[in-house]
Amino acid sequence: MKVYLDHAATTYTDERVFEKMKPYYTELFGNANSQHFYGRQTEQAVSEARAQVAQAINAKPNEIYFTSGGSEADNWALKGILSAYKSKGNHIITTKIEHAAIMSCCKQLEREGAEITYLDVDENGIVDLKQLENSIRDTTVLVSVMTANNEIGTIEPIEEVVKIAHAKGVLVHTDAVQAAGTLDIDVKAWGVDLLSLSAHKFYGPKGIGALYVRNGVKIARLINGGEQERGLRGGTTNTPCVVGMGEALSIAVAEREANNKKICELRDRFVSMVESEIPFVKYNGDRKRRLPGNANFSFRYIEGESILFSLDMKGIAASSGSACSSGSLEASHTLLAIGVEEGLAHGSIRFSFGKDNTAEQVDYTVSVLKEVVERLRKMSPLFKVQEEYANV
Ligand SMILES: *Cc1c(COP(=O)(O)O)cnc(C)c1O
Repeated sequence: MKVYLDHAATTYTDERVFEKMKPYYTELFGNANSQHFYGRQTEQAVSEARAQVAQAINAKPNEIYFTSGGSEADNWALKGILSAYKSKGNHIITTKIEHAAIMSCCKQLEREGAEITYLDVDENGIVDLKQLENSIRDTTVLVSVMTANNEIGTIEPIEEVVKIAHAKGVLVHTDAVQAAGTLDIDVKAWGVDLLSLSAHKFYGPKGIGALYVRNGVKIARLINGGEQERGLRGGTTNTPCVVGMGEALSIAVAEREANNKKICELRDRFVSMVESEIPFVKYNGDRKRRLPGNANFSFRYIEGESILFSLDMKGIAASSGSACSSGSLEASHTLLAIGVEEGLAHGSIRFSFGKDNTAEQVDYTVSVLKEVVERLRKMSPLFKVQEEYANV
C-alpha cells in the first residue's frame, strides 16, 4: 500500500485544474501583456483567475498580485513594506514559529540593519499577544504572523493580532499558505493588510502564488522588469499556472466543508489510535485551534529520521519538521519554541492528511508505525535505560 501523508509539503494538481491549464501551454500561448488578439485572449484568462482568487479571500481583484509562490509572496511582503515605509522605521515583528520563507528573510534583513522582534508562542504554538502589544515601537513598520503553522497546524488569532497592531497604526501581514483552501479566509473581516498564498498547497500547480495587498498600502517592487501586475512585479505572466491557481482555489473553497469534515475525521482517527496504541508519545500543537489535516507527534527515545526511513520502506510518506528544513540536523525551531525538549524534538514526525486518504490507510499507517517504533526502541540505548528504571 502507498500512503501519502505529506499534504502540508505539497499536493498533486487536481485533474480538473490541469485540464483547464493545458490549452494555455499550447494554442493559447499569447503573452498576456501583448496588444494583439493572442495577448487579449490570455489577459482575459488572467483576469478571470485574479477574480477567482480575490473572491475566495473576499478581496478586490486589483488587490491580488501573482508571484512565483508562497516564498516570493512572503519575501515581497517583508522587503517591500520595509522599503516603502523606511521613513517610518526599520522594525518588524514576527514570531518564533514562522516558515523558513519568513524566518530566513528576517535573518537577512537583520544582517542588513533591520530590527526584528521574534514573538514567543505558548506550549500549543499560539502567539503571545501581550508581548506583541509591548513590542510595538514608533519605528515598527510591519507585524507578520502566520495564519496557521506548517509543522504543528496551530491556527493563530489573526483578528486579535490585527486589532492590536492597527490600534498603534502598524500594518499586518499573514502567511496564509497552509490555511488557504482549508480555513475561510476573509481579508476584510480579518482586517489584514497583506496575505500570502501558494497554489501547490491546495491542489494547484507549483511555482505560482499570490500576495494580497490591501488598496492604499504602499509596497516596493521585489522584482524589477516590465509593467506586469500593475507595475509592481516584473516578469511575463505564467498564464497556465495563474489559470490553475484561480481554478484550484475556487474548487477548494467550494469543496472545503466536505473535505474538511472527511480529513478531520481521518486525522482524529489516526491521533486517537496512535495515542492509545503507542506508548511514550507527545501530541504537539493545539487540539482545538488546529488545521484539520495536521497531526504532529514526538516519539520519545528514537530519531524522527529513522522512523521516516522505515515508514518510507513500507510505502508511507510523512515528514519530520517541515519539508524545507529536513535534511538539516537541527531540531525544528517550531517544536523548540513550544517548549519540546531538544531530544524529543528530534523524534518528531508530521503526518498531514488530504482529501484522498482513507480510513484503511490510517489503520495501515498506525500498524506499521507501531511496529517501527517498537523495533527502533529495542535498539535505542535511551529506551533501555528507561526500561531498567521502570523495572526497579
Ligand atoms: C509551503 C509554505 C510556504 C512556501 O510556499 P512555496 O510556494 O513553496 O514557496 C510558505 N509558508 C508556508 C506556511 C508554507 O507552508
